[in-house]
Amino acid sequence: MDHPRFVISADEAQSMAKISGLSVPQLLPTLVKSAQNLARPPISNYHVAAVGLSSDGRIFIGVNLEFPGVPLHHSVHAEQFLVTNHALHNSPRLAYIAVSAAPSDSNFSGPCGHCRQFFQELRQAGDIQILITSETAQQGKKDVIYKPFSSLVPNSFGPCNLLDPEKPLILENHNNGLCFANGVGQDCDKLKHLALEAANASHAPYSDCPSGVALMDVNGKFYKGCYLESVAYTPSLSPVQAALVDFVANGGGGYGEIVAAVVVEKEKAMVRQEDTARLLLKMVSPDCDFRVFHCCSSVDGCV
Ligand SMILES: [Zn+2]
Repeated sequence: MDHPRFVISADEAQSMAKISGLSVPQLLPTLVKSAQNLARPPISNYHVAAVGLSSDGRIFIGVNLEFPGVPLHHSVHAEQFLVTNHALHNSPRLAYIAVSAAPSDSNFSGPCGHCRQFFQELRQAGDIQILITSETAQQGKKDVIYKPFSSLVPNSFGPCNLLDPEKPLILENHNNGLCFANGVGQDCDKLKHLALEAANASHAPYSDCPSGVALMDVNGKFYKGCYLESVAYTPSLSPVQAALVDFVANGGGGYGEIVAAVVVEKEKAMVRQEDTARLLLKMVSPDCDFRVFHCCSSVDGCV
């Protein structure tokens, strides 16, 4: 890849594979190294990439993001970026994933525990085929061997342990039935409505506190992020982290180009995003105009 791209169309993926004499799954590891160049890890300087193939044939890229000035838990891991990127583009299912191996890692140990847990929020996560990418695999070999994700997470703790099996998981359709309270939504404030849209698509079945963030950059381009919860709580991805993924994946430059942000969440929610979103955005883009709007469930009497 010659320029930063985080989504490759199914047709282009097929043609790239054909030119290389590979299948599309065999192509994935050859994209890992260039994808690592898209990472933004100014603290560790450790570039991680995850390249995923959707069941619809598109290829998605995930990279790690780190934010100086705030605690490390605001970082986004490449695998979380990848899942968020899939969700942003309505990918139905993650079928294959090739990830970069840790440096000096002869055992190719693969995703950290945090990401292994986060992946449990995908339906049948154990069936995802994963490859920890070696140097030879990066060169385009036909004999690369994927293994099921379940082999990395024996005795997993997942949504099925706490949720009704009918509840949607990440990459499945969510509609949280949220709306603005009387009068608040009666305008053409695009940023606000985009954040509500993100909150409605949020995966928050454990706290029932869905939320969304929308950003606008200096060029008037919009980005959005849905809060994505994990059954184990701490691997959850905040809506502002998810919106920053959208910003990076869709061509955003320096974070200082973000000039406006809106958080939408339920009033008096048990899990609130406002303060942590304000903190992170203030650090990455100090002049960003930051607003918060509250929403409620339509059953509570919104219009
Ligand atoms: Zn990780």
